[in-house]
Amino acid sequence: MTGLVIVGHGTRSAAGVDQFAALVERVRRRGDVADVEGGFIELSRPPLTDAVGALVARGHRALVALPLVLTGAGHGKGDIPAAMAREQERHPGLTYRYGRPLGPHPLLHTALEERIDAALAGADRAGTALAGADRAGTWVALIGRGSTDPDANAEVAKVARLLWEGRGYAGVEPGFISLAQPSVPEVLDRLRRLGARRIVVAPYFLFAGVLPDRIVAQSAEFAAAHPDLDVRVAEVIGDCDALADLVLERHAEALGGDIRMNCDTCAYRVLMPGFADKVGRPQRPHDHPDDPVGHHHHHGHAHHGHDHNGSVAVVGGGPGPDDLITVRAKALLDAADVVVVDRLAPQGLLAGLRPDVLVIDAAKVPRGPSMAQDAINAALVSHAKAGRRVVRLKGGDPYVFGRGHEEMQACAAAGVPVTVVPGVSSALAAPALAGVPVTHRGVAHDVTVVSGHLPPGHPDSLVDWAALARARGTVVLLMAVDTIAKIAAVLVEHGRAPETPVLAVQDAGLPDQRSVPARLDEIGAVAAREGIGPPAVFVLGPVVALAATGPSA
Ligand code: SAH
Repeated sequence: MTGLVIVGHGTRSAAGVDQFAALVERVRRRGDVADVEGGFIELSRPPLTDAVGALVARGHRALVALPLVLTGAGHGKGDIPAAMAREQERHPGLTYRYGRPLGPHPLLHTALEERIDAALAGADRAGTALAGADRAGTWVALIGRGSTDPDANAEVAKVARLLWEGRGYAGVEPGFISLAQPSVPEVLDRLRRLGARRIVVAPYFLFAGVLPDRIVAQSAEFAAAHPDLDVRVAEVIGDCDALADLVLERHAEALGGDIRMNCDTCAYRVLMPGFADKVGRPQRPHDHPDDPVGHHHHHGHAHHGHDHNGSVAVVGGGPGPDDLITVRAKALLDAADVVVVDRLAPQGLLAGLRPDVLVIDAAKVPRGPSMAQDAINAALVSHAKAGRRVVRLKGGDPYVFGRGHEEMQACAAAGVPVTVVPGVSSALAAPALAGVPVTHRGVAHDVTVVSGHLPPGHPDSLVDWAALARARGTVVLLMAVDTIAKIAAVLVEHGRAPETPVLAVQDAGLPDQRSVPARLDEIGAVAAREGIGPPAVFVLGPVVALAATGPSA
């Protein structure tokens, strides 16, 4: 037996809460669904958890959760699923099918048309008595909630078009009461310039609330400033049979399994200009004031930036060029408030950051001044705890000799949400950029990446140099500019052929990239003579000989 839970966002408006409750009751009275409850994810009673709890108490283990939202923005895409995920933790075994947002839908367009006609027929939402008027001389400003999600805003534009088609209004223009342009005064002014004399402002809203009230106030203000214009405000869609019909249709659709959201232009999936911060962003539940879980973070009704929690992303930036960073890393970088950057990270990308981004140079120049690791960790933690999105931008891959895991652990220990984004490591990229394949069929079946930071024989060294000497495959040495002569000698001493080809690759991927070849027993002297300096890798083994036959040799 399936129960239906209708999920609202919540509002400070008592009238809005009443309309929601009335709609839930209307759907219940239809009797088409076995059991119906309604709840809010924030601000209003009853909280979602009570609604789900009631259905579970009556024996439901499989629910349809229907987001009572007109467009698929953050509430429908993230907040409500996140709240439902919390209910599933509470009620093990609970499953649910998630319904689609309500609009665009012809039932809604007809309801909007009726509200507009009512405004034309006489009284507007402000209660002002007006003379009846015709559609042909009427322009409509369809005002949506507005979102930071361009896909949701595009839905309002689509509804405006669909409302216009065939209904005989002079025109229908979309506008937004928050977070998106054009604003209410802007769209009204646009219509005025188009020659409109009579405008109906139609709120594309389900129920009464703070934002619809603001539409009325802004429209009244515009009207007062333009006494020559006839500006009327239509009612919100409200509790009505058409809305109940649509809820039941979405319920049946969810049960039937054909629940398709419009994913093609979803900012959480697709990188859209200016919205990189949304790609792949995790969704966190709201905290309902009446829900005991998660009361640690109370916030009021913020219409923007629901994600107030700071976080750290430990990001691999690739070997240096701007375009060898991953798409995910770039998206996080574009969304960062703070970037803590290493010297070997792609410096060119810093120029593209927003001017308000705080860039902290954690440069650990070899043999030069360095910012102590503790200070770096502390900076990451404190900025994240202040609510900022921190990107720790590192060279190559964060876990390849990058101390990335230490930073990750420091954040985790401090309770800061932290993610790691792998990067293109110079260990593999520098040989490739110099034309050396680190493996090749019939030539090398293993590649070992080794830190040359500590020379052979150093008491803290963990490297088995003798084993590396015995192995036949490829060795890539990082941080070995100072130690290459000693390392080469030890490898030869333990059995690597003295004539094994080695290639030193400096500044791989950067304009100054150069490579210097030598035999293993000569690489120390050759590197010193040629002035090989950091950053450089040494790649040695039979694959190095292949570079000479390759296109980039
Ligand atoms: N996490 C990094 C490595 C950090 S250790 C990565 O995955 O690439 C720093 C060493 O990386 C340098 O001493 C050098 O050996 C190597 N390195 C980094 N960038 C390099 C580049 N562009 N060219 C050559 N070597 C590089």
